[in-house]
Amino acid sequence: MNIEDQRVVKIHYILKDDVGDIIDSSEGKEPLPYIHGTGALIPGLERELAGRAAGEEFEVTIEPEEGYGELDPELVQAVDRSVVGDIEGLQPGMQLEARDPDGHVRYVIVREVSEETVVLDANPPLAGRTLHFKVTIDSIREATAEELEHGHAH
Ligand code: ZN
Repeated sequence: MNIEDQRVVKIHYILKDDVGDIIDSSEGKEPLPYIHGTGALIPGLERELAGRAAGEEFEVTIEPEEGYGELDPELVQAVDRSVVGDIEGLQPGMQLEARDPDGHVRYVIVREVSEETVVLDANPPLAGRTLHFKVTIDSIREATAEELEHGHAH
C-alpha cells in the first residue's frame, strides 16, 4: 500500500536546521500519525511523502515557502511591558500564550525584553527557516470513516 489521500500514515522523523542541530525528532517516541491529504503536515513534506511505501526512508530540504512560511515582520511587535503582565523570569526565547480578538489561543515568542517594552513575535516558531528532514515511513493504512470525519488519526 502506498501513501495516498485519506490514508493514515505513521512516520518517524528527524528535523534539523541549516547547521545540523536537531530542532525536533520522533526518536524514542511513537511514530507521528497523520491523515494524508488533509493539510496536517507542511506542504513540502506531504508532497515528498505522496506515493511512497512503508519502510521507505528519505531526506528532504524544505524552503520556508513550502514549510511554515516566510517571517512576517508585521507579526513582530514591541508592546508595553504591562501588556504581558507580571511574568517571573521573563526572557527572550520564552513562549507565551495570548488570545486574539476572536478568543483563539495563539502562541507568541518573546524576542527582546527591556525595562519598558517587550518584543513579541507571533510568527509560527519555524517560520522563515529552511528545514532538513530525515523521514522513515513506519506504516500506511486506510483511514476509518470516523477518522475522516474528525480530520485526524486515532
Ligand atoms: Zn477524533
